Amino acid sequence: MFEKDSQNKKFSTRIISEKFSKKDVHGAISLPIYRNAAFEFPDSESIAAAFQYKEEIVSHTYTRITNPSVENLERKIKTASGAENVMMVASGMAAISNAFLSIAYAGSNIVTSPHLFGNTFSLFKFTLAAFGVEVRFVNTDNIEEIAAAIDENTCAFFCELITNPHLEIADLPEISKILKTRNVPMIVDTTIVPWCGFDARKAGVDIEVVSTTKYISGGATSIGGAILDYGTFNWEHNKRLASVANTGTMSQFSFKLKREIARNIGAAMDPDTAYQQSLGMETLQLRFERMSETAYQLAQFLSAEEKVVKVGYTRLDSSPYKTISDRLFTGNPGAMLTFSLKDKKTCFGFMDRLQTIRRATNLFDNKTLIIHPESTIYGTFAPEMKEMMGIEDNLMRLSVGLEDFSDLRDDILQALCKQN
Ligand SMILES: *Cc1c(COP(=O)(O)O)cnc(C)c1O
Repeated sequence: MFEKDSQNKKFSTRIISEKFSKKDVHGAISLPIYRNAAFEFPDSESIAAAFQYKEEIVSHTYTRITNPSVENLERKIKTASGAENVMMVASGMAAISNAFLSIAYAGSNIVTSPHLFGNTFSLFKFTLAAFGVEVRFVNTDNIEEIAAAIDENTCAFFCELITNPHLEIADLPEISKILKTRNVPMIVDTTIVPWCGFDARKAGVDIEVVSTTKYISGGATSIGGAILDYGTFNWEHNKRLASVANTGTMSQFSFKLKREIARNIGAAMDPDTAYQQSLGMETLQLRFERMSETAYQLAQFLSAEEKVVKVGYTRLDSSPYKTISDRLFTGNPGAMLTFSLKDKKTCFGFMDRLQTIRRATNLFDNKTLIIHPESTIYGTFAPEMKEMMGIEDNLMRLSVGLEDFSDLRDDILQALCKQN
């Protein structure tokens, strides 16, 4: 459990007790949704002060820039994570693209695993490539390979905390040692295990990107993303950020991101979303622990089933990543697992017989979801691309929700038993 805290309160208490930046005039117990676009000022001097960042308590001017409801969620995430700066955006992809648009430049490169969320892969390989940014794919299990791929134009090392659907875990603390000697920041997509289960700063993460659509939204209520800056990297080593001001309260990265990139891109989080996700934060630990525990029980149950060819869950003894999983995560490695049946046809038949488990994409809804990645998420990728990304066609991904373990087990069992 991540316990960094000035008040010595536990995770859920800290989030639920987080104060508003200004007292609500009606004493509302949850910060109301500020669904307006612009904010009024009493006089010309005060609006000028707000625009010139000369206020003691920062006001809001325009919702694309900042908004009280969004700021309230940022405060909760700051408390949950211990990050120095948090910025909410419209989606997980907006978090990843805004972060890279803040540090990459023509001629720079990103060192990463090819095992990435589909749109992240496409962002690096196609979107950023058009602006002269190179992506260098490495095997993140091989530290020498990572070190060899880095040069003076490497703007970041990037990876996902647990890759999906491969379920690999890079040894972040070890990789961080190399990155520090080479002055390269570590950016990690930690969507898969939230702050109550993983301490990013301790693992050496400099910048964290999260799809808050998943665990944080409180049951797939909304799309959102977060960018967290731990204030641990010296950006003088980034050719693009070296000349940016370091304000003392904001690193060059956060300054560039908040004052320029996010405003110009305009993928601001909606205030309604911020309200829903603030409530999601309050139940985060409860949901995460329950879902993860059920995922572990299901992984053990599936491992004992004869018709199941393979089960992926990094807490299982059968996972080559068990040691690092136990070291990085305070409890279970989250609510996602994979399992394989004989072939693709068997997977389709099995999925069609499920009654409690739903066929849908997405992760960490309150409902248990199943998907066959090869034919869906990677369905339009060329065969060579699927091969390169290591996508197997007999594998299914399960995102475990809040239903009772016994009902999920029984649903899987009835669908397996009718298998021909
Ligand atoms: C879902 C997801 C994303 C993208 O998030 P959106 O909110 O859908 O934009 C990125 N990374 C990971 C690991 C994800 O699971």
